[in-house]
Amino acid sequence: MGRLQGRSTVVTGAASGIGRASAILFAQEGATVVCVDRAEAVADTVKQITDAGGRAVAMTGDVSDEAFVESFIARAVSDFGGLDACYANAGISSAGQAGFAELTAEHWMTVLKVNLIGPFLAIKHASKVMIPAGKGSIICTASVAGLRSGAGGVPYSASKAGVINLVQTTANEFYGTGVRVNAICPGLIETGMTRGVYEYARAKGTADRIGQLNPLARGGEPSEIAHAALFLASDDSSYVNGQAIVVDGGLSSS
Ligand code: NAD
Repeated sequence: MGRLQGRSTVVTGAASGIGRASAILFAQEGATVVCVDRAEAVADTVKQITDAGGRAVAMTGDVSDEAFVESFIARAVSDFGGLDACYANAGISSAGQAGFAELTAEHWMTVLKVNLIGPFLAIKHASKVMIPAGKGSIICTASVAGLRSGAGGVPYSASKAGVINLVQTTANEFYGTGVRVNAICPGLIETGMTRGVYEYARAKGTADRIGQLNPLARGGEPSEIAHAALFLASDDSSYVNGQAIVVDGGLSSS
């Protein structure tokens, strides 16, 4: 039996990278999955799941729009009978922006809306379903860039630091409810977000150096983050709460 057998889950950012790998893994472990993304390619993730005999639906919209967040949480309840785990994973980078002095407040707001308000709204509406049920696991994707200065740009790092605090404070906010809130802090993973970094490094013949950044001497795969998300979504992590779990090949401790 799968580790999420019969569980109802939501995964945002499910059209690509870490979100797609997580949605597929959750389904393989027996969960139903509401796959959320602003990109239409989220339908391909759903097709991959249903072709393999799993159950999933796609919802297309912006995770920083509260009405949309309410609608995808409601979809999990209406189609799949409740909500056991919600993985608020969608995010954007601010890499490649102008130098610090040229950064605009408008750009900051764009990054904070997706990366910090998005998880806040997911936690708010997922918990409204989970608290009355007396159980549930909420997971957010932060980053090692939220633990210390890192790649992705200043607004990105600050937004991810905010996500780490958000899971700590909401875990406490939900004292005694049975609802857990945790974050995952990935290192460098090859996805749509970092494709440019990898392509640039390959073109320059320096792709090997990406691996040299951490003691495992390689970049990470989306599935390696998905397995951490599976752990947090499942009862295997029943006593893990308010944590930011680092999955970075040892980068942040090297
Ligand atoms: P990705 O670009 O492959 O996937 C992100 C997905 O989020 C995309 O499908 C995108 O369409 C979706 N998305 C973005 N903004 C959205 C919005 N407003 N509403 C709905 N969907 C939206 O990148 P990824 O690497 O899989 O990123 C997933 C998460 O992992 C992000 O939060 C990212 O910050 C985090 N992360 C990634 C890395 C890495 O190295 N790839 C490292 C640390 C943290």
